[in-house]
This record gives sequence, C-alpha cells and structure tokens, in this order.
Amino acid sequence: MICELCGKEVPETRSTWIEGAQMKVCKDCQRFGDKPKVGAKESPTKVVIASRLEQRERRMRTRDIYKEEEVFELVDDYAARIRDARNARGWKTEQLAAKISEKASTLSKVESGHLKPDDVLVAKLEKELSIVLIEKVPLVKPDAKNAKYGGGITMEHFIKQAKKKE
Ligand SMILES: [Zn+2]
Repeated sequence: MICELCGKEVPETRSTWIEGAQMKVCKDCQRFGDKPKVGAKESPTKVVIASRLEQRERRMRTRDIYKEEEVFELVDDYAARIRDARNARGWKTEQLAAKISEKASTLSKVESGHLKPDDVLVAKLEKELSIVLIEKVPLVKPDAKNAKYGGGITMEHFIKQAKKKE
C-alpha cells in the first residue's frame, strides 16, 4: 500500500484526518493526524505535511519516468537484414567479412541466426550495410518490487548505447 501523505510503500495504512482531509497514511505519518482535542493549540505540523506531500509528488514523478523508459534491443530479424543487405550489394559473405575485418565463419553464423552479433559487430554491420539492427523498445513497467532491478538493467543499456555513439 502507498501512504497518501509521503508516498512511501508500506505494508499497512490507516485512515487518518489530516488538515481536514481523510487520508490513508503510514505509521510515520499518523502523528500528523488532526487530534480531536478541545482547545488544543494550532498544530505546528503544516510545514512538515507540505514537505511530505512534495516528497510524494517527487516519488510519483519518478514512477512516471519509469513507465516511459525504453531500452535498445537487437532486432529479431537481424540475420535476414544482414543477408538481404549483403545480397543487394552483390557481395559474398567472405567479401563483407573482409570489409569489416571479421571471419567469414563468424558472419555466416550471424547470418543464419545462430550467433547474436556483439555491440562492436553490430556497429560495423550497420555502418557498412547502412542498415538498422538495434531498435528502441518500450520497457514494460516493472512492478514495485522489481523496480530497482529493472532500473539497473535499463541504465546499463543506456550507458552501453551512449558509449557506442561516441
Ligand atoms: Zn507516510
């Protein structure tokens, strides 16, 4: 459950009246609840509540960024794309291999789909054949438990991709 005040993920929330509004909040935030004491002086917690609400908004924004994230993936039909582009130029596998300083046997495996080209080979093939082998795909929003893990993977992808473009 998510605390409606601070936005923290907690196992349990409780309905509490805060500043005249009913909110489901975590244990930490329950102390900001309006106390029905008669004659109690005005609560000094307004500033704290404002800062917690701000925190929550920041958390929510982070989540939205997650949803829109994309990763870069090798296309499924990379083998066909390479083969077709090479044939269109009338090159033999050996000729293309020589142009990009790779072994023909490696290239054959890639063109038959038995070997996924690594980042370096992908870059060389894309350049030599003027084709696209890496595509942006939207990242499925990870659920809260795996958010951290998913984020790590995504960052790695981005860093890899950024380095490649240098
Ligand atoms: Zn809270």
